[in-house]
Formats: sequence, C-alpha cells, structure tokens
Amino acid sequence: MRKNIIAGNWKMNTTFEEGMELAKGLNEALKGKTLKCDVVIGTPFTHLACIADAIDTNVIGVAAQNCADKDKGAYTGEVSAAMVASTGAKYVILGHSERRAYYHETAEILKTKVNLALANGLTPIFCIGEVLEERKAGKHFDVVDGQVKDSLFDLSAEDFAKLVIAYEPVWAIGTGVTATADEAEEIHVHIRCTIAARYGEEIADNCTILYGGSMNGANAKELVSKPNVDGGLIGGASLSVDKFMPIIEAF
Ligand code: PEP
Repeated sequence: MRKNIIAGNWKMNTTFEEGMELAKGLNEALKGKTLKCDVVIGTPFTHLACIADAIDTNVIGVAAQNCADKDKGAYTGEVSAAMVASTGAKYVILGHSERRAYYHETAEILKTKVNLALANGLTPIFCIGEVLEERKAGKHFDVVDGQVKDSLFDLSAEDFAKLVIAYEPVWAIGTGVTATADEAEEIHVHIRCTIAARYGEEIADNCTILYGGSMNGANAKELVSKPNVDGGLIGGASLSVDKFMPIIEAF
C-alpha cells in the first residue's frame, strides 16, 4: 500500500527563531492525534538540524528543499546530500519548478541529485509539472512524461520504489489557482501509467504521487479524495499551523 503524505515547503521563509516556533507549534498540534497521512516539513538548510532535534521525527519528517549535485569538495556555498542526511532530515525536495526556472536545474543535474540523495539514504520528493502555455497547448502529459523519464528512468526498480513524486502544475504554484480534483486525478493516473510501463504495475501502484499548487484547507479534502492523489506538497499554507493542520486532517 502506498503512503499518504502531506508535505510543507517553507521555501525561503522564516528566520531561525520563526522556523523553530513553527515546527514546535506543529509538533504540539499533532500530539496525540491519529493521522491518516505522514507529515513532512521542508525547511531552510539552516534550520534542519535544530528542528530535527526539537520535534518528534516519528510524527513529522524533516526535508531539505535542495541538495548539491556534487558529492563534496570545493563547491563554495553548496550543501551536499550527506550533509542534509547528517542533520536528521529524511527527505529532500528536488526539481521544484522554482529551482528549474531560477537556478537552471536541468534533467541531467536533477538525475545526479536524485542519485546522490538516494545514495545518502534520503527520500527524494521529486517535483514535475507543466507551465500554463504547455497546459493550454495540451502538452502537459508529454511534459511530465519527459521530466520523469529524463531524470528518473535510469534508476533501478529498487531505487525508483524509494521516491515520492509531486505533480505541481507551475500555473497553480503560489497563484491561488488550483487544478481541479478531476484535472489532478487525470494526470496522476497518467503519471502512474507511465511508471507502470517502465517499472511494472506493482511499483506504479505503490508510488506516492502528491499534488501541489495552491492547496489549502478549503480544497484539500476534494483533492485527496481522488484515488490517485496521495497527498500534497504545500507552500504558502504550510507556513502557519492553523492553515496546515486542516490540510493534514483532510485525510
Ligand atoms: C510549492 O511551492 O510547492 C507550492 C505548492 O506552493 P503553494 O502551495 O504556495 O502554491
């Protein structure tokens, strides 16, 4: 059975103190609750170790939002997958559309990052998704197929089975415009079929595919009620316990 996951992506938000307060607040809010999904928070690098130390990581998994495409060495300013893993983080968000667009992360670079993340025991949350022009031109299925194939399909079946995929239409990220639950379901089914064609039905069935893009307490229930939407990757609404909790409780 595949896992349901609600993952927050804090992006470049929160000072260290604010981040600690947010993580501890979420930890408090989840205490004693029976959850139908795993919860993950993607924090800035600077917060990872202290947050992992301050919360119950059996209840909240900690994620980095990126890692280097190099193992180690003279790469000033970079943070390696091994460094991320050494903080107690268990996940790393890779291929977010902001990183693809603003930092020119290519399929090849992402392939290397995925390999390094897996080699260091991290679970990649691998983001894919089309821009508005591609959706309007009806190219969204081909775009996500290309993103998955170009960065992930050289993985062994054993490694592929460790990944989480996040479908995030770029036109829905931070815009307040959400894909309808039917649109999300349609493309999640398509992604699952593409995975099945390469790795077989069992691995495709067990792959967690999250939806991301302006998900909030009002639309989460309908989205996660779809059989192929296994949770969400949440930006804005993960920055407040009051906004994040109803999404977690949508399951
Ligand atoms: C994201 O950045 O991954 C995201 C989904 O952001 P938002 O929820 O703010 O649209």
